[in-house]
Amino acid sequence: MAATISHWLGNKTFTGTSGNTAPVTNPATGAITGRVALASAEDARTVIDSAAEAFPGWRDTSLAKRTTVLFKFRELLNDRKQELAAIITAEHGKVLSDALGEVSRGQEVVEFACGIAHLLKGGMTENASTNIDVASIRQPLGPVAVISPFNFPAMVPMWFFPIAIAAGNTVVLKPSEKDPTAAVWIAELWAEAGLPAGVFNVLQGDKTAVDELLINPTIKAISFVGSTPIARYVYQTGTAHGKRVQALGGAKNHAIVLPDADLNAAADAMVNAGYGSAGERCMAISVLVAVGDIADNLVAKIADRTKSLRIGDGTKNSDMGPLVTWQHRDKVVSYIDAGEADGATVVVDGRRVQADGSAGGFWLGPTLLDHVRTDMSVYTDEVFGPVLSVVRVDSYDEALELVNAGPYGNGTAIFTGDGGVARRFQNEVQVGMVGINVPIPVPTAYYSFGGWKHSLFGDIHAHGTDGVHFFTRGKVVTSRWLDRSHGGINLGFPQSG
Ligand code: NAD
Repeated sequence: MAATISHWLGNKTFTGTSGNTAPVTNPATGAITGRVALASAEDARTVIDSAAEAFPGWRDTSLAKRTTVLFKFRELLNDRKQELAAIITAEHGKVLSDALGEVSRGQEVVEFACGIAHLLKGGMTENASTNIDVASIRQPLGPVAVISPFNFPAMVPMWFFPIAIAAGNTVVLKPSEKDPTAAVWIAELWAEAGLPAGVFNVLQGDKTAVDELLINPTIKAISFVGSTPIARYVYQTGTAHGKRVQALGGAKNHAIVLPDADLNAAADAMVNAGYGSAGERCMAISVLVAVGDIADNLVAKIADRTKSLRIGDGTKNSDMGPLVTWQHRDKVVSYIDAGEADGATVVVDGRRVQADGSAGGFWLGPTLLDHVRTDMSVYTDEVFGPVLSVVRVDSYDEALELVNAGPYGNGTAIFTGDGGVARRFQNEVQVGMVGINVPIPVPTAYYSFGGWKHSLFGDIHAHGTDGVHFFTRGKVVTSRWLDRSHGGINLGFPQSG
């Protein structure tokens, strides 16, 4: 019988009362392996109430005690991350080494949050005015929500909750209903690390659960990651209900390869960034902009490398696993079909993949499309699969214009041997995260992650010092302690003196 994947509150599982569930599949076999609870609004309120109840106590817990729990969580995670990686592979489909990489990138944020005492330090000015001192402090917001997508069931939540918890907030995590088990495993780890009940909660569900988080006045801030239409909706609804919202959306990342680039290194990078995790990464490269007369040579090098990739069950010795659901696989295939019908050249055809895995798996091989035009749907839309489209242009200026004309601005990369052009690119490109001879420029935990334009709604990026600011509010205290002889009436506006 398929396992039930429940909510988590009060440091234990909570089945909820809705009675609604959704199937969870193993993408490598197509088998239903579990059924995830889908919260009713009432279930959502129960979980939110748990976070609200725990907030005053956690907020007043000393930084020393909070960081002890953080350090313990980090140690447990580090010791047992293989378990979490296996859960991710079983529900998402990505290969084990990639799942482990995801956990390690999330762990970096936990390690960053272990330094919260330093990160929360305010400023203090003595004698700003005569006998008056001014100090700035940062305080937690209250119960906050994290709503995450299917493609990084561990790392994306970890962009947010370690900092939120370390700063003294309580958290409700609403994971994707496609791969919900990682969240519950993480919750158990927090309990083992000594986190008090109610500080970290998991709410399983779909739009009903999200909508309650967006409108419920107890929730003070929302960190959302997902597709652009939902990110826009979450931002508009959450802010209309008075919440602080950062909503990270979809992407369409371009890599420009200039004629002076090392073409072998660039071809390796295109394969890694185009097909890693079956292209289901918001930082995947989905468009290669080949500049000048290198295109034939570069496309041939990529095609050679692509043909050697092993596609199969992520628990085996594969380079690339299946897509997350059959519906998503069929949608990606429809973009390849449309591109071909519109005149793109199918250089490598993933529709004819021979996967090393069960016949019921949601397989689609790496696909390389050449001569893609900007009016084709495979170019205009976020495909989110193992499809690399090649657009040919004549100059750097034309390539830059193409990147800047797109509605998204998550990641981009340039491959060149010319430092001057690279420097010009980092200055001129309208994208939040830029790689120079680096195909997937995901910032380390102490910098912040976030795109521009339709890739992020809100002003503050994820983790790093932005994360600390997002999960805290600034307060400035002006104080005077002196002998009673000082004073007197003065109705003028306060001035330094
Ligand atoms: P999604 O937008 O379908 O789902 C994201 C979350 O929103 C899930 O928790 C889901 O349950 C919820 N949701 C879905 N439909 C909803 C609705 N109508 N109302 C309210 N909530 C709803 O995204 P996904 O398919 O899970 O993830 C892939 C997308 O996420 C891609 O577009 C990818 O680019 C994006 N993504 C972006 C980043 C980034 O950092 N910018 C990172 C990872 C993924």
